[in-house]
Amino acid sequence: MNSEFRFYKENSKCHDLYKDNHKFQTYTFVTEKLRRYSTKGIYEMTIHEVIEAMDQFVDPSDPDIDLPNSIHIYQTAEKIRKDQPDNHELQLCGLMHDLGKILYKFGEPSWNIVGDTFVVGCEYPKSIVYYDSLRENPDFNNPKYNTKFGVYEEKCGIENLKLSFGHDEYLYLVLRRNRNHKLSDKYLNIIRYHSFYSWHSEGEYRRFMIESDFKILEDVQEFNKYDLYSKENEDKIGDDVKEYYRRLIDEYFPGSLVW
Ligand code: FE
Ligand code: FE
Repeated sequence: MNSEFRFYKENSKCHDLYKDNHKFQTYTFVTEKLRRYSTKGIYEMTIHEVIEAMDQFVDPSDPDIDLPNSIHIYQTAEKIRKDQPDNHELQLCGLMHDLGKILYKFGEPSWNIVGDTFVVGCEYPKSIVYYDSLRENPDFNNPKYNTKFGVYEEKCGIENLKLSFGHDEYLYLVLRRNRNHKLSDKYLNIIRYHSFYSWHSEGEYRRFMIESDFKILEDVQEFNKYDLYSKENEDKIGDDVKEYYRRLIDEYFPGSLVW
């Protein structure tokens, strides 16, 4: 990984965010959030409306960017388009990957929206950023959870692990619940795991993987470079660019979704 990115300082806004995230994301908490958001949504909104709302959201967990999220998502998509002009679904995935941050509109605190994700219900790998603050999590001292396998079994498959809750899992659940779109499962998985750095960039949790997870891992890793490197330029997002994505969205998401 390029060392210019993801440099986490002590005593920063980012550190404060992680302290809360690490303390409150317990196995029980995540189970409840999954139940809450997988059953039914409340607000009906188009993708366009959600993107517009991202003008108001700056991610406090990201040490590399302090611009509204709407700029980051266009830049991610554009980075992909430059590299892969015909891969419309991956471009759209780039545009959409952070839209789960709309949770801020629904009153969720930042520590339940952003930050790298990790598995709840088994021991925490030391490579997690700000690992020490995980000691404040009640699960840390619970022998049911803090073991190599915890509540899981070897090779149970990555999809069966519960990850700390946030914009990734939330958007994944929204896209699973609403089937009136054409975005395929490959991209739903990229969205679901894009903040799972300990897995996709640090090589953790291999003991839970099954054969098909290796392809997912590859897809997520490919996507990650666009997510990171789109933060280095500040190219203006012109109306022509917005129009290009407006059409792409209308093609893949002809109706509104329930969020
Ligand atoms: Fe993200
Ligand atoms: Fe992102």
